[in-house]
Amino acid sequence: MKEEVKIRYPSYIKEFKCIGGNCSDNCCHGWEIHIDKNTFDKYVKIQNNIFDTDILENIIVRKNCKNPNIDYGQIKLNNETQCPFLCKDNYCSIHANLGEDYLSKVCTTYPRIINKIDDCYELSLNVSCIEAARIILLKEEGITFDYSRELISNNYVIAKEINTNTYEINDTNYKHIKEIRDKSINIITNRKYKLSERLFDLGLFLENVRRKLCYNYDNTVQFVDEYDIRSNKVKFQRDINDYMLQISFYKGILEKLAASKFFISDNFSEIIDKVMLGFKFTEDKSLIENSQIYLKAYTILDKEVFEPYSYIFENYLVNHMFKELFPFSENDIVYDGYIMMLVRLSYIKFFIAGYYLSDGKITIDNIIKIIQSLTKEIEHDETYLKHILTHIKEYELDNKRFAKILL
Ligand code: SF4
Repeated sequence: MKEEVKIRYPSYIKEFKCIGGNCSDNCCHGWEIHIDKNTFDKYVKIQNNIFDTDILENIIVRKNCKNPNIDYGQIKLNNETQCPFLCKDNYCSIHANLGEDYLSKVCTTYPRIINKIDDCYELSLNVSCIEAARIILLKEEGITFDYSRELISNNYVIAKEINTNTYEINDTNYKHIKEIRDKSINIITNRKYKLSERLFDLGLFLENVRRKLCYNYDNTVQFVDEYDIRSNKVKFQRDINDYMLQISFYKGILEKLAASKFFISDNFSEIIDKVMLGFKFTEDKSLIENSQIYLKAYTILDKEVFEPYSYIFENYLVNHMFKELFPFSENDIVYDGYIMMLVRLSYIKFFIAGYYLSDGKITIDNIIKIIQSLTKEIEHDETYLKHILTHIKEYELDNKRFAKILL
């Protein structure tokens, strides 16, 4: 069933079409595939002989289900950690034999992200899908947003829903999500300045917003509306040695990722191997002993990749901000969303640097694959990014000094 609703969407949305059998990193591989209760009940009812085994033999009912409308059950992956309903030609046999109506909400929705703010449905795509990543990240002209009325399926998962007009939201920071997010996206897309400067400006803006939210709640919308980055500008100067602090931070969290994950896709495990090799983490040497090699690589990458191809990283950030309701991506604390966005971006750059150190070169295609596969591993894990935020708070790193290190 479809219903006509008001939607807001990024300029790229209509370009996406799943490439199914031709996909190099099929999404039916290596992660939990959830089945909602309604779809599960449909499987209980069907009598069919299209599968060698009963469809229900490949589905378990989740003991730790959080919402029966989304994750009542879970598909048992086969020994190759693939969905057992994936045919040899990489097409879905449930879709092929029973039709789209028999796909679970999660399968119908992915890689779309649908949020609802007030009466408006916000559609975007997740860069964990390689085809979506190419479309989004390679848009040299950047991402803009439009509104329209469209028919959308009611079998989609609504990831986040906020009604800013309700009493419960009235006294919370979420009340101003639309204004703060739009201004944040404006700052990040202002190409008069380098991306690192824009991120720095965004930190200053959010620091001011945080104060407003604490002490002058009623004026927040007017403050956000009138905020002018030029009159609040502070010069940003990168200290090259901060890259060493980043490397030390990410070495620890990369090792935790490799140790804690049961599923790591072949693509991503190849990338991790290269990064470990590139940074020489497997050798018995301290980071300081290799510091000249690391800093030279970051200097080259700044000049030849991060600055000339900054639109790739800008698009990554804009997409993240829109779909994760920035800055409330982690919780209702404005600065947590900012720090965690910087963590994501500098983690990506750390992977790019390790890959470059290993191969002595890096292509745009490699960069897209790194962003896609890293996102797939860390964003679809319920705990990984939460643990990083907990670690940051435990060590009191949720401050301007650490933000500047990550820039
Ligand atoms: S990852 Fe994207 S393109 Fe590939 S099969 Fe899944 S939805 Fe389709």
